Amino acid sequence: MKTDYFSHLNPAEKKILKDKGTEAPFTGEYNDFFEPGIFVCRACKSPLYESNTKFNSGCGWPSFDDEIENAIVRYEDLSGGRVRTEICCAKCDGHLGHVFHGEEITEKDTRHCVNSLSIQFKAYEKLEQATFGAGCFWQVEKIFREIEGVYLANSGYMGGDTINPTYQEVCKGDTNHAEVVHLYFNPDVISYETLLNIFWKNHNPTTLNRQGVDSGTQYRSVVFYHSDTQKKIVEISILEESKKWKNLIVTQLVSATTFYRAEEYHQNYLNKNNLGSCGV
Ligand SMILES: [Zn+2]
Repeated sequence: MKTDYFSHLNPAEKKILKDKGTEAPFTGEYNDFFEPGIFVCRACKSPLYESNTKFNSGCGWPSFDDEIENAIVRYEDLSGGRVRTEICCAKCDGHLGHVFHGEEITEKDTRHCVNSLSIQFKAYEKLEQATFGAGCFWQVEKIFREIEGVYLANSGYMGGDTINPTYQEVCKGDTNHAEVVHLYFNPDVISYETLLNIFWKNHNPTTLNRQGVDSGTQYRSVVFYHSDTQKKIVEISILEESKKWKNLIVTQLVSATTFYRAEEYHQNYLNKNNLGSCGV
């Protein structure tokens, strides 16, 4: 007998997955959601997308620029008087959404536009967080993104007073936010101490509110700690690091607050724009 993967779904889910419906934009639970984990099919529970392929396209639906291998099937869709590519779950054939190319939002230039109601999130609970401010986040993100054991590296803002700040507001300097890179890393693969060493090696911790040509409080050197253990590790590390510099280390050590993910065009900025580094 053929398995009925859709029988347990509620009417709203069935309307999408079985009857190829579309939820209203900006209403889905995963539209603005960037936690580390995996998205499975809501009908058959088959893994479909890794959260490190998720991005914010601004379209109002969860967007991914890659799929888990062999997880998705594609069909030509001529409905609505245009040619589109429908995407479905390879295991149960449940409708997910459509896939688009040529919008140039991410490096892979692909957008899987998926209904939140078609998918379900399973968190990677073993991962830990780390947040560093070391000048322009484009450069800092590029460095950490390429480190083995770092699962997610997002550019954003932390430590200020404005809720959901924009880049323009942060640049004006009156939000008190720092440009930061927020990481989810696997402590079995890379230690917090190693991440901290990468942080020290890639900026000057003795210049107050300035890195190279960038100046302003948003460029301050700062470690936002996520636990007392991290705090202690940083305190020891600052003492060690002080021996290497002639001038005083001005790096702040502050308890982590809400991380506000920066606008999508700032994510993976240097790779997307084929730039080696900032300011060149
Ligand atoms: Zn499925």
